[in-house]
Amino acid sequence: MPPSLPNSTAQRDIETLIHPYTNLKVHQDTGPLVISRGEGVRVFGEDGTPYIEAMAGLWCTSLGWSEKRLVTAATEAMSRLPFYHSFTHKVPDVTVDLAERLLALAPVKMGKVFFANSGSEAVDTALKLVWYINNARGKPLKKKVIAREKAYHGVTIASASLTGLPACQNDFDLPIPGVLRTGCPHYYRFGQEGESEQEFATRRADELEQLILSEGPDTIAAMFAEPVMGAGGVIVPPATYFEKIQAVLKKYDILLIADEVICGFGRTGNMWGSQTYDLKPDMMTMAKALSSAYMPISALMVSDEIFADMVKQSEKLGVFGHGYTYGGHPVACAVALETLKIYEERDIVSTVQDISPAFQTGLAAFKSHPLVGEVRGVGLVAAVELVKNKTTRESFDPKLGVGMKCAKFLQNNGVIGRAMGDSLAFSPPLIISRDEIAEMLAGFAKALDQTL
Ligand code: PLP
Repeated sequence: MPPSLPNSTAQRDIETLIHPYTNLKVHQDTGPLVISRGEGVRVFGEDGTPYIEAMAGLWCTSLGWSEKRLVTAATEAMSRLPFYHSFTHKVPDVTVDLAERLLALAPVKMGKVFFANSGSEAVDTALKLVWYINNARGKPLKKKVIAREKAYHGVTIASASLTGLPACQNDFDLPIPGVLRTGCPHYYRFGQEGESEQEFATRRADELEQLILSEGPDTIAAMFAEPVMGAGGVIVPPATYFEKIQAVLKKYDILLIADEVICGFGRTGNMWGSQTYDLKPDMMTMAKALSSAYMPISALMVSDEIFADMVKQSEKLGVFGHGYTYGGHPVACAVALETLKIYEERDIVSTVQDISPAFQTGLAAFKSHPLVGEVRGVGLVAAVELVKNKTTRESFDPKLGVGMKCAKFLQNNGVIGRAMGDSLAFSPPLIISRDEIAEMLAGFAKALDQTL
């Protein structure tokens, strides 16, 4: 249905905007849902309709929409020093404060922090550093990187090449050369008949080793991995998976880069997904909940060893020739610093641990619904996969858009979730209450029946 009013925001949107992750043809006919304000875990449409934002926007607005302390932090920072950069031996003071806080929070000893503005930029930077330090190490052939089917690492040329979702590459002439793909650790979908989770994890690790051996270990520099794969469908790793994967990487001197853009800052019930699944990364990327999404900011942390090689190489070249104008922006850093203070004062990790059983068991109850094949999740992130046949796990024809239909019903019931294929994702603000979870579940129960 096209928007009815000629001068409505929806109509003006159709006439002006290119929408990310949208069927642009369908959008011309339907227009957007226009959101005008937020409060707590809710956002409100132009007409005042409230929605529980059960995705925290895009897995990011961890403190919800009413955190006045972040507004104050931004306002004060904006008045004091609205901009300064970190190029060539200069830096805003607050950027140093934030770097210090992040290093203190790291799940393993990290050496230094680099700031950027988006998850994609942090991932791009990580890939450039992988190449840079292998040149410093005198290993110019050790440059290929491994990422997984269904991974999501962003949309810039390099990060979209690491992303393992066809829509991010098809007809964009991606991926770039040197990106190798290994299997997705989704047990429900890819586990074989009679295979245990542990056996499946062993098979995935064996496949990784075969890939490394067939390409030549001396040509492979790093593997990128989200602790829980987010946009690929909230894929929780099977038991023993990361232990086995890390053993293979170690054997062939391949770096592990943990992409914590979704998992970081409490989402999985620990400060980092790397803690939940015992990853020991050499580099880590983070964004989203770093500032509760109130300001765009991302960061990359690197180990002492990696930083030492960067120093060596920049000395040789005369400069470390990389950086973004807005990296370490003082207003974004002030907001992120205040966000981290709030996490600490309110013990956000314990909050997630307290509330997540209500969220996870509430969603798990939908397993008995005739449309539901799998419910998977950890902490405050989960997905419910809809299937045509529960016994055989047969999926619906993607052309039917069953997931999108369910998400639309959900929205009509006052809850915003996200369809990823036929999986419905939920990743609410970390401050969601039991009553709000109950409301979210009730809206979803209705949507599932409407989708039937
Ligand atoms: N990495 C992961 C794990 C993500 O989930 C995302 C975004 O959802 C990105 C990277 C890219 O972040 P951005 O959209 O800020 O560029």
